Amino acid sequence: MSNIELTLSIIKPDAVERNLDIEIKEMFKNKGFSIVKEKKIQIEKSEAEKFYKVHETKPFYNDLCAYLSSGPIVVMVLEKENAVLDNRELMGATNPNDAEEGTIRKKYGISIDKNSVHGSDSVENAKIEIDFFFKD
Ligand code: UDP
Ligand code: MG
Repeated sequence: MSNIELTLSIIKPDAVERNLDIEIKEMFKNKGFSIVKEKKIQIEKSEAEKFYKVHETKPFYNDLCAYLSSGPIVVMVLEKENAVLDNRELMGATNPNDAEEGTIRKKYGISIDKNSVHGSDSVENAKIEIDFFFKD
């Protein structure tokens, strides 16, 4: 039985700044993801605070929101069989130092905060995050 899912991916400011968006999109396509929606935007810090609200009690929350709003990002809806988990696998561990070979964060991540990509962590959160960026 097929289980086609959508997930939200963000290419974060550190990667867009280094012009890695084309290469990262190729990595998604090579793994069988279709990019069904895509936009390059810069968000306000207040929007980043809403997006990352689940982390509001964490010590890194303020820096994280300042960072996500610090420059252009590429926001995408990815579609594939088991897209949510497969995207998490392709991204690699949150800390690039712990990420497996062949993952986006291993290849391009600079540090735990500048780790190049965001990906939804569940089907439920994917819906919320897709709506956040693409509800017109
Ligand atoms: N983050 C950070 N310091 C930490 C943990 C996380 O700066 O100690 C940042 C990092 O950019 C990460 C984001 O906060 O991607 C969200 O954290 P989460 O645990 O949800 O990791 P992810 O789902 O992005 O792998
Ligand atoms: Mg997360």
